[in-house]
Amino acid sequence: MPLPHSLLCLCGAVNIKLNGQPEARANCHCLTCRDFYGTSMLSATAWLPEQVTVVGGRISTFSHPTKQLSRAFCPRCGDTVFGTNRFGMRVLPNSFVARATGGELPEEMRATMHLFYRHRTIDIQDELPKYLDGWDGQIYDGSSGKP
Ligand SMILES: [Zn+2]
Ligand SMILES: [Zn+2]
Repeated sequence: MPLPHSLLCLCGAVNIKLNGQPEARANCHCLTCRDFYGTSMLSATAWLPEQVTVVGGRISTFSHPTKQLSRAFCPRCGDTVFGTNRFGMRVLPNSFVARATGGELPEEMRATMHLFYRHRTIDIQDELPKYLDGWDGQIYDGSSGKP
């Protein structure tokens, strides 16, 4: 399945264009993502800011009150079209991308790891590496129960 060329918000007013491939693909269980995106884990891809452009409609932006991140959304339907993380990367929720491809996420967009698995609200059984914290740290081996 090819990567989607353009992504529409739920009402269709905002059109986002992607260029190239994501820099990173992950399921993030960190408290910040959970809280900010309102989900038990954020399945998303991270892109350089110039790879993600708004080509139609108008976005509104909400900056986190205390942390260095923001969320861009359609002012009409409220759909989050991308976030910006503390590294300045644009973060696209997989649910948003999958809508543009008929509900199925393209292989090249699927998560390759779990991050901050220590903070999970649900246990995941898959073959992906589960980093307890960031991607350069310790991996959960599943044998010693929870952390
Ligand atoms: Zn909309
Ligand atoms: Zn996170």
